[in-house]
Formats: sequence, C-alpha cells, structure tokens
Amino acid sequence: MAQPYPEKIWHNGSIKPWAEATTHVMAHALHYGSSVFEGIRCYQTPEGPAIFRLSDHNRRLFASAKIYDMAIPYSLDEINAACREVLRANDFSTDYLRPVAFRGLGGFGLSADTPTDVAVATWKMGQYLGAGVLEEGIDACVSSWQRFAPNTIPAGAKAGGNYLSGQLVAREARRLGFGEGIALASTGLLSEGAGENLFLVFDGALHTTPVSAALLNGITRNSIIALARDAGIEVIERDLPREYLYLCEELFMCGTAAEITPIRSVDGRQVGAGRAGPVTQQLQRLFFGLFDGTTPDRHGWLEPV
Ligand code: PMP
Repeated sequence: MAQPYPEKIWHNGSIKPWAEATTHVMAHALHYGSSVFEGIRCYQTPEGPAIFRLSDHNRRLFASAKIYDMAIPYSLDEINAACREVLRANDFSTDYLRPVAFRGLGGFGLSADTPTDVAVATWKMGQYLGAGVLEEGIDACVSSWQRFAPNTIPAGAKAGGNYLSGQLVAREARRLGFGEGIALASTGLLSEGAGENLFLVFDGALHTTPVSAALLNGITRNSIIALARDAGIEVIERDLPREYLYLCEELFMCGTAAEITPIRSVDGRQVGAGRAGPVTQQLQRLFFGLFDGTTPDRHGWLEPV
C-alpha cells in the first residue's frame, strides 16, 4: 500500500507543500549516501502533543553531521523549531518526525564541498513492525549479513549510507517470513536489529550490547536503561554471543519506530515463554506511561510542541 503523504514539509528554511520539496537527481547524497537523519516520535499526552527527547535526537543529528564533516546551516534551536512547525502545519495528524541533512547539488566528486540541504518531514508511523506486535511480539532471525567492522563505516552516526546494511538485514528477514532481522558484529558477537537495539533478560536483569558492537547508540535504549535503573532493575552492557538469544528469559527490541517490541522466537527457537515476559511488560508500562501521565517525566524528556 502506498504511503499517504502529509500536506506540508519543512525544507531549507520554510514550510511548503509536500510536492514542492524536491532536489536534483545529481544531489551528492543520492549517489554516495551522504545524508544524516533522525527519527523522532510525537505522542499525545494529557498536557497536549509532546515530542519525545526532541533535543537529544537533534543533538545526535549534529553529532552524525560532525562525524561526516558536514556543516548544517541551522542551529539546534532552529531545527527543533522546524520540527514543531511541521507538526503544526499538518494539524498534528502525524506522529513521527524525520529531520534530514544531506550533501546537495554542487559537485560530483566524493570530497566535493556541496551545500547542505535540510528538510524536516512528518508522517503517521503507527506500529512500525505491524499491528499487535507490542503485545504479541515478533519472530526474529539472525541475519546472514553482519554489521560493518570498526573503523570502516561509523555505526555511531545515523547516516543514510549505514542503512544499506539495515536494508539487507530487514529485507532478508521479511523474505524468509520473519518480523525482523538481528545482525551480528564483524566479531561474530551480537550487534543489534536492522533498526533497533536489543535487550535480553537473565535472572531479572537487563543485558544490552555495547556501543563497540557496531550499533547506533539509541535514544530509546538510553531511555530504557534510565527507566530500568529508576525502577531498581539492574542493567548490564556487555558483549553477548548469538546463542544467548536462545537462552535468555526475555528478549525485546527497541527504537523510536519499534518502541518496545517483544521477540517471541529467534531462528525458530522459542524465547522464554514465547510472549512478552514480566520485565518487558514492566518496561513497556513505564515507557508508555510517560505519555499517558502514569510515569512521571523525571528526566524532562517530553518537549511540548
Ligand atoms: N539502531 C539502528 C540501526 C536504528 O536505525 C535505530 C533507530 N533510529 C536504533 C538502533 C534505535 O535508535 P533510537 O532509539 O534512537 O530510535
């Protein structure tokens, strides 16, 4: 089904009709993957629409640009304001924001100093991995594709080119009938999902793979670590071998799009009881409670529109 497009988009400094935010086919980013972007959710809360960790997401946008030596011709405040503006321009009919900065038209060489184009789009994301998955969980597989090796493509940047890896992992998983794919790092140890970080539960404690395992340091991952520690759940960041996916009591993936999605099986082996376990459910309650007001926002993560 074709994605229905919202009416308005923010592009290079102003709100315009969706169809007018065009770029040339010879834009650098289209050929070389030279873009950096973010994915951010807006939730309806009792106090009105709030953007979850808007400033932290856009700080990561600037960090990704720094890694690639790309100048963004706007300030953090201006990009934050553009995010709010595009939600308002679409009458809050959407729930997801996509700021993107990319090397535009202005040179064909790899090291060309092209201008940086910036856009902020918004659309309705809903449940990224499918209806009902937050309750029922998904069946996942370990991909035949590994993540990039250290000092090749920086996993810490959320850059367009990195998502060639994610596409290989996600498309292979879907082709084989799985809900999502999990990638190993070049070390053969666990990395992350195609577009999600991983948490495993052993003896009631949360274990997650470290940033040295070729993963994106997710803002949802960081939020879950904080919520868990606030609730007295132990959190351990550590290297984990593949087979621990089969042996843990509970397993879930997390990300802005995937939120907290339980994994009920990996490679055809049932994980735990084959449904969301108690720690996963507790974290889901704490996380979604931020948006209905049942979890106090003690870290100041909700940024009003
Ligand atoms: N890993 C990858 C590869 C991702 O694309 C994402 C989604 N941005 C994540 C992890 C989760 O990051 P976040 O929680 O910041 O959305």
